[in-house]
Amino acid sequence: MHSEEFDIAIIGAGIVGCATAHHLVRTFPNRSLIVLERREQPGLETSSASSGVIHSGIHLPPTSRKARLAQRGRVLTLSACTTFGVRMQHCGMHVVVSPGDVPHLTGEMRGFFELLRRARTQGVPCTVVPPWNVRKHEPAVRCIFGIHIPDVTVIDVPTLVRAFVHHAATRGAQFRYRTPVHAIERSGTRYHLTTGTNTIRANVVVNAAGLDAARLAKTAGAPEYRIDLYRGEYYEVLYPELRDAVRGLVYPVYRPGSPGLGIHLTKTMDGRLLIGPNAQRIPTPAALTENRTPPEPFLAAVQPFLPTLRREHLRYDHAGIRTKYVNGNEESDFVIALDHADPPLVNCIGIESPGVTAAPAIAEHIAELLQTRIAPC
Ligand SMILES: Cc1cc2nc3c(=O)[nH]c(=O)nc-3n(C[C@H](O)[C@H](O)[C@H](O)COP(=O)(O)OP(=O)(O)OC[C@H]3O[C@@H](n4cnc5c(N)ncnc54)[C@H](O)[C@@H]3O)c2cc1C
Repeated sequence: MHSEEFDIAIIGAGIVGCATAHHLVRTFPNRSLIVLERREQPGLETSSASSGVIHSGIHLPPTSRKARLAQRGRVLTLSACTTFGVRMQHCGMHVVVSPGDVPHLTGEMRGFFELLRRARTQGVPCTVVPPWNVRKHEPAVRCIFGIHIPDVTVIDVPTLVRAFVHHAATRGAQFRYRTPVHAIERSGTRYHLTTGTNTIRANVVVNAAGLDAARLAKTAGAPEYRIDLYRGEYYEVLYPELRDAVRGLVYPVYRPGSPGLGIHLTKTMDGRLLIGPNAQRIPTPAALTENRTPPEPFLAAVQPFLPTLRREHLRYDHAGIRTKYVNGNEESDFVIALDHADPPLVNCIGIESPGVTAAPAIAEHIAELLQTRIAPC
């Protein structure tokens, strides 16, 4: 079988793999680098299902790796969007307690104060706002009070992914599509990546294969990572008056430990209004498109703070999959691990939300892990 040799191979051209390629070609110039992607273009799996929200970190446990990488990633992502001319909408976020929450106000208040604690610990600017202030920003929303987080932005994710690819490629990175990696095999001082048509031999491997990353890590003899998959579906609001009345992001209060942030409103870069995502455990990625959830649970979640929403306003839009690394009872966190030091193998596991926000910081972290492992040319 035909074989080729590279210094660095990255598996997966999602936002993490592409941001990493972009960062590594700068950190290790003169090192050959290839990105192997099973789909026909970059960013077609989880990255394109995201809502494109560049999160503040308010939802994250302050001492987690996710929180640290999201804080740093937020700065790097906004800077990359400015440099590459990627569209952004600085729309801010409201987290609201709605009149419908009054019967379970004690639980809501617990979640509300936990969010404020997480924001203060991380230095995320936010204010508690009365309903009339929420209505000034979001005239269609009803609440009894809320939190306003001004520094939240929505970006055009596919364009950012393509920009990372373009700028990495101009520095010599190769991107190879329709190239699924079946296994990572260690052979002496390098890895062999079997792709079906040929073998790629690489001195360093970064496994950023999203939904397939835990399986690939296992083929390399890395620890067995337990992953749970949660489907997140979205409906689009087609009623123009309601669509135009919502201006930014409106979330319910998050219950720490729940698999998602709660079904919420997102105004996309192209002016659409999305409702979602839910968080539904699925057995395999193949279940992504099976048995769509009907609109009722989405209506029930959102009507308390968007009372004019009706079933007939909704059309099913799309779904994506969150991969959660399961680690006992702790809230799931990202794994970015140098699982073998020699030859180096970095596995990126459980990169769920806010993976878009964190991607350039994940790339930076991977470069740090590899710094002493890749000799200068
Ligand atoms: C519904 C939903 C909404 C979200 N919203 C947000 C948000 O608003 N903000 C935010 O910050 N984050 C959000 N996220 C999280 C974010 O989308 C992910 O964290 C991020 O996209 C993960 O990127 P990735 O590159 O790791 O994975 P992916 O985008 O899945 O990329 C992995 C790539 O690897 C390829 N691949 C897989 N297996 C192989 C193989 N064997 N060989 C070769 N290639 C392979 C895939 O085709 C894919 O292109 C959301 C996630 C979901 C599901």
